[in-house]
Amino acid sequence: MGEWKCQECGYTMSADAPPKTCPQCRKECEFVDVSCYIPDCGNTGRDSRLK
Ligand SMILES: [Zn+2]
Repeated sequence: MGEWKCQECGYTMSADAPPKTCPQCRKECEFVDVSCYIPDCGNTGRDSRLK
């Protein structure tokens, strides 16, 4: 599982792979991997530096 963020609207979701179409803005957006693999990020599972 990873955390994916829509570059268009900032929507984030957990999935194995980014969706083709963003569930929120309903466009074919570019999703970036914002998964955090280090404990420093806390329990959000997301890298706050990428917000
Ligand atoms: Zn979007």
